[in-house]
Amino acid sequence: MKCFLKRLKPEFDVRLRYSDFETFEDKNNERNKRIRMLLVTDTKWARKLAKKLEKCKKYNRCWISACPVCMRRLRIWLCGEELRLLAKGDDVRFVTIVITDELKTSEALFELSVHKLRNRLRTQLRRAGLGGARIIGGFELDYNYHLKLWIPHFHLLILGSTAEARKEFRDRYYQPTEEIHRPMMDLDIRSGEKAKTFSYCLKSFSKPKKHPAWEKRLDLEEHNLSLRFFSQYKPQNLVFIRGGTRRGENILPIKNGKIVSEGN
Ligand SMILES: [Zn+2]
Repeated sequence: MKCFLKRLKPEFDVRLRYSDFETFEDKNNERNKRIRMLLVTDTKWARKLAKKLEKCKKYNRCWISACPVCMRRLRIWLCGEELRLLAKGDDVRFVTIVITDELKTSEALFELSVHKLRNRLRTQLRRAGLGGARIIGGFELDYNYHLKLWIPHFHLLILGSTAEARKEFRDRYYQPTEEIHRPMMDLDIRSGEKAKTFSYCLKSFSKPKKHPAWEKRLDLEEHNLSLRFFSQYKPQNLVFIRGGTRRGENILPIKNGKIVSEGN
């Protein structure tokens, strides 16, 4: 995935399609802030992670998902693939699902496995009749200070689904719970807002530019804990793909078990 930026066609470049997309400077500043906050914790793992983030330089990126500079790079790639493979369809949905039975306290956070959650989601989609849809999305984690729980969730862009199948998916797996009143949001995407909405698919826990819901930074303890959690994963480990497979820099669409060529 090293040189993809050079080959990115302008129509698939989210930086050109969405003027408020995060800049390199935004994310570099964010990285410096994270390093400073890690050093306040002053434990062995925090110092080690701070060093890794500090060493992340041009041509020698650290490529861990706790690094905002590397995550931005991944997001530019991911948005490009989303624009290439999903934007032509007129029925793309923006679906958010909260994994209500995997909410975790800070003590239990490391019981979460993104790999396991992705596999489970894949099975759920198939069983609900969404197996034929093309889906690209990402894993995110929020902390809810009221519940004192970590909230794992996926944002998914779904192309080629029926309202019935999405309802089936909701009814079977994403019913309201005591803690989470709306575990599934299923939104239409306005045609002029595709690039913007696509860029919301994978934010890690950083604050996107001009996004009021994220004005508040996590407190030191949770902030550093989430960095520690995300430092286990490479940026691409947070990506969810169904109806396609990643080969190097490309997501290749799959239909009926076979790779199909399209979307250039
Ligand atoms: Zn990095």
